[in-house]
Amino acid sequence: MRLLENIFQAICSHILPSACIVCEVFQDHILCAQCTTLLIAELLPNYECCEQCGITLVAKEIGGQRCLECETQPPYFDETYCLDRYEGRLQSALHQLKYQGRLSYAHGLASAWNQLMTESLINLQASYLLPVPLSQKKLCARGFNQAWELARRIRCARSIHKNPYILLRHHHTQHQANENRVNRYKAIQGVFYINPQYRRHLESTTVIVFDDVMTSGATLNEIARVLKDNGASRVINWVLLRTLRPT
Ligand SMILES: [Zn+2]
Ligand SMILES: [Zn+2]
Repeated sequence: MRLLENIFQAICSHILPSACIVCEVFQDHILCAQCTTLLIAELLPNYECCEQCGITLVAKEIGGQRCLECETQPPYFDETYCLDRYEGRLQSALHQLKYQGRLSYAHGLASAWNQLMTESLINLQASYLLPVPLSQKKLCARGFNQAWELARRIRCARSIHKNPYILLRHHHTQHQANENRVNRYKAIQGVFYINPQYRRHLESTTVIVFDDVMTSGATLNEIARVLKDNGASRVINWVLLRTLRPT
């Protein structure tokens, strides 16, 4: 299936013009050379970031590997790798995917991840790569889960199983966007669970959780708690875009 998809994409790239997902200029590549250069220069991994939550460190934190918040109240996840800032050049492409339903942008954004992140992560060992599940309401409105559409297209070690059916979500929660930080942590509690079929599979595993955006970290923290409650020994976040620290 993957092979057919790759062949189809290779044929399409030769017979159809494509536009760069960042500058939208028509050319052969999904990310043009100029935007690739700019992205490489601005990537979050170029900055001193907290190993645990991926946020950029402020002057007084540099020298340690974690931000003050992770030092004082460590989250359940162990590491976070983010491609770029939410306010950076990829935001509009992600909006095209999420809010305009343009699935081709999932291919473009995953290509950006593969081009810019895979080399540094390819040796990372884990048993599973799980997308953050979407609420039923959003899934019905959007028709797809963008985290899974990205996760299924990114390259990782063959031993890592990608699976959207292990981590599941109850469907009775309220919208998170307008909640303040404390309420967000409360609102997300008890939202996620592990498919009973897979519970025994998580024992002593390292699990990668993939999301398109990380803001407060409340969702990923709750997911890591659930995964560890079900036996996972290590939880690593892979995130496309990370918002900056709240001011
Ligand atoms: Zn471009
Ligand atoms: Zn941190």
